[in-house]
Parts: sequence; structure tokens; C-alpha cells
Amino acid sequence: MGLLDGKTALITGGARGQGRAHAVTSAREGADVILLDITSQALGSVDYPLATADDMAETVRQVEALDRRALTFDADVRDQDQLDAAVTAGIAEFGKIDILIANAGIWTRAPFWEMSEQMWSDMMDVNLTGVWKSAKAVAPHMIERQSGSIVITSSVNGLEPGMNYAHYVSTKHGVIGLMKNIALELAPYGIRCNSINPGAILTPMTNQQGAWDMFAGHEGGTPDDLIAGGYSFHALKGTSFMPPEVIANTALYLNSDLAATVTGVTIPVDAGHMLLTG
Ligand code: NAD
Repeated sequence: MGLLDGKTALITGGARGQGRAHAVTSAREGADVILLDITSQALGSVDYPLATADDMAETVRQVEALDRRALTFDADVRDQDQLDAAVTAGIAEFGKIDILIANAGIWTRAPFWEMSEQMWSDMMDVNLTGVWKSAKAVAPHMIERQSGSIVITSSVNGLEPGMNYAHYVSTKHGVIGLMKNIALELAPYGIRCNSINPGAILTPMTNQQGAWDMFAGHEGGTPDDLIAGGYSFHALKGTSFMPPEVIANTALYLNSDLAATVTGVTIPVDAGHMLLTG
């Protein structure tokens, strides 16, 4: 018996990274999944590649290997019509949506006074407004069913600043406020909403030149610099960049009946990072 037997989970940014871990973990625990990701277009100010159709196909392969079903959408969380269409099609296919994991996100860097308006607005549109639109897409259905769980991916940067990414920090603080309001407004319908604050997680967002350079402290950084920096980022002994499954396991708890009375909270999964900085 799985913790999510018979459930359906909609996962944004579901093609790779933490989104794939959410998909596979949810499937392993008995859920069918609806995976939404921007797999056929670049996104203005983002200087590392976003997910591809091949990434999505690999996630589907892993879900189906667990004998669960996956429905996929090449869609953008900035577009309410695309989100609504995915929700409608998902309900038609699976009969209901029990879970939303609002995970899609981007990360770029510049000092705030040099940041372009494009960088700022792309960040707001994806990481903050995209979460609102994703929750808006599932809320009427969950209200009708008087049941549901929403998990939003924030960051340790939802609790503290980060050098040269004020826009990201603003969105990750913002989604915690949004999470609390969603939790408050949906509590009368028996629907829960919580968020997670990941520490450093090894995914295509972090395993790329920009993050290698940041952890190296200079241009020309390498993956070794990233891993070395990860050890000092976390307090817990022997913990560098963590696998995405540590976040998926926390979402699993929040989405399961184990957390049936947990709503409106945010959970750091950061190997003690906040002990060093908080
Ligand atoms: P990732 O880049 O591998 O995954 C993000 C996914 O979101 C990608 O598949 C990407 O294609 C998708 N995406 C981006 N813009 C989109 C859009 N407009 N519409 C639909 N999909 C879109 O990185 P990840 O680490 O798996 O990131 C998942 C979440 O975790 C993000 O919200 C990120 O900010 C957050 N986070 C990551 C870390 C980390 O260390 N990796 C730490 C804290 C928080």
C-alpha cells in the first residue's frame, strides 16, 4: 500500500530535477501524475537550458515503470489558459486532481541595480505569478470536492537573502505569503496548502556554469567547486548538494494523510543551512 494510492498529482516543472523526483516518488506511492513543463521554448532572461521533450519522456518512462499513468503538457505556468486546459484534460483523464505541487521555477543572477526589467519580470511571472496561476487553476475543482493538498516550492531564499538575486529572493519570500493565504482561504473547504524551503539541491538549475561560478567565487568555476561549496553551505556533517528526492519525500509527507492536520506551514529541508545563517 502506498501513501498516495488512488490519488492524482499535478506537478509543474515536472520534466526534470525536483519535478521528476516528485513525479517518481508520487507514482511509487500510488499516484497517477499530470506533468506540465515548458519543453519547447526558451525563456527570455534564463541563461541555462530549461527542460526538453526528451527530459519529459524520461520522466514518463520512470513513472510508467512503476505501473502508474502520466499525462504530459508542454505548457507555461505564465499562461492561465494553458494551465486551465491541463487541469480540464487531467480531470477528464483521471477523474480528479488531489494534489498540486507548484515546483516550476527559474534562477538568474545580477546585482539588483544592474538587473534588467526583463530579468525581474520573468522571475516574477514564473516563480510568483506562475504559482498563483497554478493554484488558481486547481482551486475550483478542489473546492467542489472539498479536498486537496497544495505544496509550493519556496527556497531557503524564502527565509533569507542571497547575493545578487534579489528578484529570486523576492519571489521565494512571496510564495510563502501566498501559501499562507491559500491555506487560510481554502481551510474551510478541507484543502491544505504548505511550502518547502530546499537548501542546495543537485539539479540542472544548480549544476551549470552560473552556479559553479557562484560557488567558486570567480568565473571559470567547475562542478568540483559546486560540490566543495555545498559542504560549507550545509551544517549537517558530510552533506553537499542534496538529491532532489529529499524534497520529494517532504512533499510526499505533506500530501499524504500523515499530514492531514498540517496546513499553512513552511518546512526547511536544508541540512541545517539556516542554523548557520538564520
Ligand atoms: P530545474 O531547472 O531542474 O527544474 C525547474 C523546472 O521548471 C524545469 O523543468 C523547467 O523547464 C521548468 N520551468 C521553468 N519555467 C517554466 C515555466 N514558465 N512553465 C513551466 N515550467 C517551467 O531546477 P529544480 O532545482 O528542480 O527547481 C525546482 C524548484 O526548486 C524551483 O522552484 C526552484 O526555484 C526551487 N529550488 C531549487 C533549489 C536548488 O538548489 N536546485 C533550491 C531551492 C529551491
